[in-house]
Amino acid sequence: MTPSMTRLSLLFLFSLCYISAYAQQRCGTMQVYEKLIARDSNTLQRSILFEKALQTQGSSTSPNPKLEPNTGSRNTQAIVVIPVVVHVVYNTSTQNISEEQIRSQISILNSDYRMTNNDTLATGHPFWASTADAAIEFCLATTDPNGNPSNGITRTFTTTTRFDADTIYNWTDVKYTSTGGQDNWDPTRYLNVWVCNLTGPALAFSSFPTELITTPSEDGITVGYRYFGTGGTSISPYNLGRTMTHEVGHWLGLKHIWGDAFCGTDFVVDTKAAESENYGCPSFPQRPTNTCGGDANGEMYMNFMDYVNDNCMNMFTYGQVLRMQNTLTLARPDIASANRCVSTASIHDTHDIKFGLYPIPAQKTLNLYFGNAYEGSLEIRILNSLGQIVQEQSFFSQPESIDLDISSINQGSYFLEVSHQKSKTVKRIVVLN
Ligand SMILES: [Zn+2]
Repeated sequence: MTPSMTRLSLLFLFSLCYISAYAQQRCGTMQVYEKLIARDSNTLQRSILFEKALQTQGSSTSPNPKLEPNTGSRNTQAIVVIPVVVHVVYNTSTQNISEEQIRSQISILNSDYRMTNNDTLATGHPFWASTADAAIEFCLATTDPNGNPSNGITRTFTTTTRFDADTIYNWTDVKYTSTGGQDNWDPTRYLNVWVCNLTGPALAFSSFPTELITTPSEDGITVGYRYFGTGGTSISPYNLGRTMTHEVGHWLGLKHIWGDAFCGTDFVVDTKAAESENYGCPSFPQRPTNTCGGDANGEMYMNFMDYVNDNCMNMFTYGQVLRMQNTLTLARPDIASANRCVSTASIHDTHDIKFGLYPIPAQKTLNLYFGNAYEGSLEIRILNSLGQIVQEQSFFSQPESIDLDISSINQGSYFLEVSHQKSKTVKRIVVLN
């Protein structure tokens, strides 16, 4: 739901009063936001100005391409790849979670933000028409801020036994090396995630994009080690990585779908009016014909920006996708070109192999055409955003062009690496299988 602009200020203030009344919450983003307002009185004004800027981007008027004839459900626009650095700040060995668990979280983000999650709504569901592919992917950074190779993970032992988003423990401690945490990496080029022993009512909290300019050192997401990724230390019902899917939504400018107020607004048209947050795993329809003027289909409780259990949330709407993409343009413009997930040495190899690609995006077959003949074998590898090889092939003849069968690769963006002796060229490709 979206309000008239004249009521923006009142809605913000009302939202803040309302959320104070609830002690038990799965997300601490709005509590932390209250602290920001108390610390800096201009915080609220920045949000209002940002909201006006977002609305001038036309986020509420563009139709969902899925509803247009002859259009697939997948987003074919350029995909933004966001480099992630995970700062594990641990006091016990259990809290020092495995790389496998961290990689599982990146995979979940990629599924949820590309709408390839296996629990996406069935096409017959009344809300299916609103679902959308966010065209955003995530990768663990392979280059640190100094240009050195990295696995996108930092590990810091701390003597602090617990971090908290409430008033007893300072919520910023984990974000600074000087207070027992870890300083963040350049937040204009990385999504910083702190995984620690976060206690109190919230499983996690995120900064909003409006605060990037004023407090860049605090930009990022803080999450409890029991609510991150799947397997390892994750615990039910928050063991499917959806806490991060939700928090990244905040990091990209989304609000809770009930607008943090009774029948409040999230400034998105197609998320349905909701009286308040939903917990557990409701049955459809939830709160049909609610007092916000909702219809018989009720509230969109399965939206990633509600509070239901991990196994019950499964969708973003097209309106939310537009809002996230507009936020990237307006508030995080450098992240799309940060390019921190591929070795720059590979891309800028002076002995590179010259070849063209057709078509991009590609489906089933990708054609590579070469400008020179190469003696000996050409090695071709396709890597996913985690740097894992998904296809590998050698060509021993010296073809002018190669029709590469990519039919076994899932939809997504990948890196195509062509090697010949000690030369290598890497190009980004998009697959629409
Ligand atoms: Zn939240």
